[in-house]
Amino acid sequence: MSGNSSDTVIQTNRLDRGFFRYQEEFESKALAVLRSGWYILGEEVSSFEKEYAEFTGSKYCVGVGNGLDALTLAFRALGIGEGDEVLVQANTYIASVMGITINGATPVFIEPDEYYALDEDRIEEKLTEKTKAILVVHLYGQAAKMDKLVSICKKRGLKLVEDCAQSHGARFFGPGNDALQNGAESSGKMTGTFGDIGCFSFYPSKNIGAFGDGGCIVTDDAEIDRTIRMLRNYGSEKRYYNKVVGVNSRLDELQAGLLRVRLSHIEELNDEKKRLAARYDEEINNDVINKPERRPGCEHIYHQYVIRCEKRDELAAYLKERGILTIIHYPIPPHLSEAYSYLGIKRGSLPITEHYADTVLSIPMYNGLTEEEQEMVIRALNEFQPGSQI
Ligand SMILES: *Cc1c(COP(=O)(O)O)cnc(C)c1O
Repeated sequence: MSGNSSDTVIQTNRLDRGFFRYQEEFESKALAVLRSGWYILGEEVSSFEKEYAEFTGSKYCVGVGNGLDALTLAFRALGIGEGDEVLVQANTYIASVMGITINGATPVFIEPDEYYALDEDRIEEKLTEKTKAILVVHLYGQAAKMDKLVSICKKRGLKLVEDCAQSHGARFFGPGNDALQNGAESSGKMTGTFGDIGCFSFYPSKNIGAFGDGGCIVTDDAEIDRTIRMLRNYGSEKRYYNKVVGVNSRLDELQAGLLRVRLSHIEELNDEKKRLAARYDEEINNDVINKPERRPGCEHIYHQYVIRCEKRDELAAYLKERGILTIIHYPIPPHLSEAYSYLGIKRGSLPITEHYADTVLSIPMYNGLTEEEQEMVIRALNEFQPGSQI
């Protein structure tokens, strides 16, 4: 064990710091909701939906219970189910895949590129007459390259769903357009607005986090908006008149109110993470550590700062010894998880994905990470020499 006392340990996240920064606003909003006497589907939810649609540049937003439900209801609303195939990158959080399979559809895994994004050059070879949709995941907070994906979907008549659970506010600026990196205005569009439906999670650790579970979908399609509104509430548009067998998946008033507070500060919160990332980019300097690649035109809001190291487990143990905790996103790719053993996809069949799973490591990256803490992380990473510590 290290000699660190518990308060010098640097955690992978500190949600308390995110709360205390806007404590008064959160507390007064929470009290207001508690005192209102209205807790489900009220003014906070409809205001949040309006504000979030506006924020993303979508026509509609529907609040739901969590990110998995957003994905599940999205595929259901698009009529995707039994017998249909959905292409999805293999290196994602398993919830992306569950959104597909809960509907009875089959996930078809695509290897990622060097940006941890779905490799668009591998799409064609996986298309069959059963392919109905592509699910793109803006993993770790970097917007995926959307131009070609959108045109493939248009050409093939495929639906396009975006998993934006890690990309709140991240924009895609078009191929080769790196105006963003220069801080200039450009005609970028926000993730979630390129496909038929954008799915968001407000799990507490996400860039816009609730104080419990929450999620939403955004869309420009009035029919999809209406369908998901109905599905989230027992398949009912009119009280006690149920059109279909729906679910109970509603964003609640308390979370919606608190999310409105968080949303009002999102620019500042994302900017802070970008500054922290820029410092890591600049100051981490160790040949055995790969820093995350930035793709021109694809904004990165650093939900996670993910490095890669061939001696990943040794590095994680070494950091822990120095009082720095890390986390792996994700150690077991969905196709190798027990839940998906029925798909019969063997180890070795998605080598890039499996290699990432064995080598990625997320280092501390959160709002409120101090300069001194970051200094400690950087110094430890730069002093790491594989094989030299016992
Ligand atoms: C968090 C996350 C989800 C699921 O969101 P929940 O709100 O936890 O259900 C889905 N996809 C990705 C990529 C995520 O990171």
